[in-house]
This record gives sequence, structure tokens and C-alpha cells, in this order.
Amino acid sequence: MSSEHMNAEQALQLLKEGNKRFCNNELQSKNVSGQRRKDLLNNGQKPFAVVLSCSDSRVPPEVIFDQALGDIFVIRVAGNVVSPIELGSIEYGVEHLHVPLLIIMGHDNCGAVKATVDGGEAPGCIGAIVDMIKPSVDKARAAGVNGDDLYEKACDENIRAMQAIVEKSPIIEELIEHGHLKIVLAKYLQSNGEAVFF
Ligand SMILES: [Zn+2]
Repeated sequence: MSSEHMNAEQALQLLKEGNKRFCNNELQSKNVSGQRRKDLLNNGQKPFAVVLSCSDSRVPPEVIFDQALGDIFVIRVAGNVVSPIELGSIEYGVEHLHVPLLIIMGHDNCGAVKATVDGGEAPGCIGAIVDMIKPSVDKARAAGVNGDDLYEKACDENIRAMQAIVEKSPIIEELIEHGHLKIVLAKYLQSNGEAVFF
């Protein structure tokens, strides 16, 4: 099915099915042939979902959702934070490429979140990432969460905080308002490979 005729629910269903295959070690064979590359080059890309996720090498969206060339438009950045650069990439995907679904996905045991919770030195530009995650850590702490639970609670808060940033985009707001875009939040669990949608 072409993404031109796909709605958000159908797109989400494809991701859920792909993640199920991944969890069950039943990855499907993919067309990554030269012909497929040529087709995508000549006809343009028509991905069916935009996925924002962490740069962590253990959480590649194409793998955990069992997708191939041209399927999903991915933005990866440590801590899955949204600065104007990431937001611009998301806007390009949903507005220019007419993608009906945006997934904002965090993951368990996120190093960026842990570093923010633990504090300490953040050299170079790493501090810019920590600064974006810190409000979510503060929120989790304010809710009385501590110990190892704080990492995961802060991660969940961070996913919601990034949603709030994305939804402030007038482009995104309008697409949602007209029913052309749906945002779905997710957390990827490394233990069993599952992407939990919420
Ligand atoms: Zn991470």
C-alpha cells in the first residue's frame, strides 16, 4: 500500500506488525536491491511514518519495526530531544512528504537520560542535550520518584515533553487539526524488543 493512501491508523498497524515480527525473530525479507534503490530515486520517497528516536546504537527504528528502504523517515538524536533542527526535519517529513503518522519514541536505559539524572560534567555540546532533558528529570523528582525508577520516569516525562514541543509547531498544529497527522508516543524496551505505545 502506498503511503499516499494510508492513514495514521494503518501506518501504526504496519509498525506494530513489524515490531511483533522483530520480537518473535521473524523478520521479513526486504527488497534492498539496486532496482528498488532506482525506483525510490526516480519516483521519490513516500515513507508512511516519521519516527523520532534516540541515537543509541541498540534502538534503530528500521530494525525494531522491521522496515526497509523508503519506509520510515527517521530522526535520531541522543535523548530523542527536539531542537529547531529536529523539529524542522519532522516538519519536512509530515508536511512536505505528507506522512500521516509521527512516532516520538524513547527507550529504557537511555544514556542521555541517565547522564542528566546523575548530573556531573557534560563537556562540549553534550550540555545542550542535558539542558533539554533536565526539566523532565526535575518533574519526575518533584513527583517523588527516586532510585532507578527515576531514570525511567524521567525518560517517560521526556517523551511527553518532546511531544509538547512538537505540538507547538504551527505546521504540525494545522496538520493535526485537519486530521492529516497523528502523533503517537512510544517507549522501546530493550529487554524484550517491544515498542510500547501510549
Ligand atoms: Zn537513549
